[in-house]
Amino acid sequence: MSIKGISKAECPSCGFKFDADFWTVVHGDQDPALKEAIISGEFDLLMCPGCSGLFPCEETFIYTSPEKELLVFVMPAEYGKEREKWLEKMRLDFETLKGSFLKEGLTASEPLYYFGAGMLSELLLRDRDMEEETDVMEFMAGERGFRNAKILPGFARLHDLPFSLPYAGCPCRDHALEAARAITASNDALARVKNLVGILEELKTQELPFIKK
Ligand SMILES: [Zn+2]
Repeated sequence: MSIKGISKAECPSCGFKFDADFWTVVHGDQDPALKEAIISGEFDLLMCPGCSGLFPCEETFIYTSPEKELLVFVMPAEYGKEREKWLEKMRLDFETLKGSFLKEGLTASEPLYYFGAGMLSELLLRDRDMEEETDVMEFMAGERGFRNAKILPGFARLHDLPFSLPYAGCPCRDHALEAARAITASNDALARVKNLVGILEELKTQELPFIKK
């Protein structure tokens, strides 16, 4: 589950001071509502108990999504003015926390350090776009009797691919290429599947080093 902390806040409209709840750790895979709030920009909004006004208030939090190989330290946007200082601090924090992250299966991902939840929102929005294209591709693959193998999420983001690849028979280069080509031939709009075709064409081995085992 995601974890909350308490911090002092002051309403910029009426000056009311109060203890506000802040999320300190957000598990994106388990808390779709919080993930949605980050994407929509509502995550950083507080409601004043005095005047019921909404105002933005940022606190540092950690966003994790083992499924998507994400571990993100999100600092308030204004920390970006002293970027190096805060990056250094966050890297030290990560060293301290590393053990507990390892236990949660987050070893595959090096952490990202962001200034402002807006940066995370952009990443999650792009992920969503990739997921939607992946869903379309998987549906088309299913219709053609192909199966799907998961691509490592970090690799998919780096090369702008779907999060999975289709294949006929066994998941090797030739079978994946055949399936991906068949899908792009019948739907020209799947740009990421086209990127996948390009990656597979260049691959020199039959083994696919970028799929989840
Ligand atoms: Zn107020």
